[in-house]
Amino acid sequence: MHYDIVIVGGGAGGLELASRLGRRLGGRRIASHGGKRRVLLIDRSSFHIWKPTLHEVAAGTLDVHQEGVSYSILGRSNGFNFLLGELATFDPGAKRLTLKAITDQGGQVLAPERTITFTYGVLAIGSGSNLFGTPGAEQAYLLERTEDAEVFHARLLAAFTRASFSTDKIMRVAIVGGGATGVELSAELIEAHRELLGSLGDEQRFRLDITVVEAAERILGGLPPEIADKAKLALERKGVAVKTDAKVLAVHADRLETSRGDVLADLIVWAAGVKAAEANRGFGLETNRGNQFVVNDRLETSSPDIWALGDCAAAPWKDGKTVPARAQAAHQQASYLERVLIARLRQGHVQTPFVYRDFGSLVSLGDNKGVGALMGGLGGPNFFIEGLLAKWAYMSLHLDHHRAILGVGRTATLAIARLLQQRVSGRLKLH
Ligand SMILES: Cc1cc2nc3c(=O)[nH]c(=O)nc-3n(C[C@H](O)[C@H](O)[C@H](O)COP(=O)(O)OP(=O)(O)OC[C@H]3O[C@@H](n4cnc5c(N)ncnc54)[C@H](O)[C@@H]3O)c2cc1C
Repeated sequence: MHYDIVIVGGGAGGLELASRLGRRLGGRRIASHGGKRRVLLIDRSSFHIWKPTLHEVAAGTLDVHQEGVSYSILGRSNGFNFLLGELATFDPGAKRLTLKAITDQGGQVLAPERTITFTYGVLAIGSGSNLFGTPGAEQAYLLERTEDAEVFHARLLAAFTRASFSTDKIMRVAIVGGGATGVELSAELIEAHRELLGSLGDEQRFRLDITVVEAAERILGGLPPEIADKAKLALERKGVAVKTDAKVLAVHADRLETSRGDVLADLIVWAAGVKAAEANRGFGLETNRGNQFVVNDRLETSSPDIWALGDCAAAPWKDGKTVPARAQAAHQQASYLERVLIARLRQGHVQTPFVYRDFGSLVSLGDNKGVGALMGGLGGPNFFIEGLLAKWAYMSLHLDHHRAILGVGRTATLAIARLLQQRVSGRLKLH
């Protein structure tokens, strides 16, 4: 099967790119080509969840079945084709890739290995966590994929039940990593616990102790110190213990061993470090130490007609740094590559390089009332926004993504549907 454009990975960047290209090209005839341009999106999952909401799925404050959107349906409405499958091999020279066979849980083959050829290829396969070779770290919960968040949520509910019938009435969670993921997860868990307490009788109530463990001197290392200080204070006010300067030496079933003593835990989440998949090294493209594809300022990989975007790409930024692994970077890169690929199909070139514009960072600190979101720029001047304004700005990032893939009308319908659903079932998913 041959496609004009193949995008592997339908996350924050890849899905936006496929939707934009599909809407512009899908089903239309282009004079210079004489036929239909075909855009193919490949993902190992059949439905899409915006990754920055995974901590909410984990805490149960976001229902994955309500939030997830099927790629096939998105493809139909946006004019791209979708193929379910995990990348097995990628040959940039031959412009050919293969997808692993799909099997069911019993090992029965549902779809054989498939081969696709293409004219232009884009890799948008994201990244995972960096365990830094820490002994035992593999037994901690991760938040890399939707399945991870769902598994954590199931264990969280089990731990809630255990704690509410325990004698000491305490549940302990340790989160490794004081970056945005760790901070947002701890705030979301506090919120989930508060919602739960509202539905429990006095004799079933229990205390939730959360400890965020960070190796650096402060949390939110990528953000300005004033923001990190404010976030730390807000977390501590909510009862979260923030242990900085504490390197995790080993992960055990019931505790974290750190350079500043042990942290007891019923549940341990690893939310530190970003590293792309080891398999990326085998795709015949230049990669860096973090397994990201090295790209130039036009997002071109080391092979012609192959681009990479988002977390899996190391794109030059400023002061020798690369563009940070952020949803807003993936979003901007998708817009840029839309122009590049349309130009290429018309035998043209985009003259300008990709320039990442940092619009600051928002960290959600939970709280239904809207307080607890902060913003600060990595590159330009920093200014704070707090309270409701920051909460809206945070939510608008998510809505922006939905708008890019669903359009304005359906995004509004989805937002209203979600609100109504919450009115009926409550905010916390307890099943
Ligand atoms: C809990 C959490 C909170 C975050 N909060 C924020 C935030 O507030 N703001 C922000 O800017 N960023 C945030 N981020 C980071 C942000 O989610 C990422 O930077 C962003 O999703 C990267 O987009 P991407 O398209 O590169 O990859 P992803 O969105 O990760 O998408 C990658 C896609 O590729 C698919 N895939 C992977 N490997 C294969 C394969 N081998 N074959 C086929 N398909 C494959 C995956 O299924 C996935 O759909 C957060 C991340 C997490 C985990």
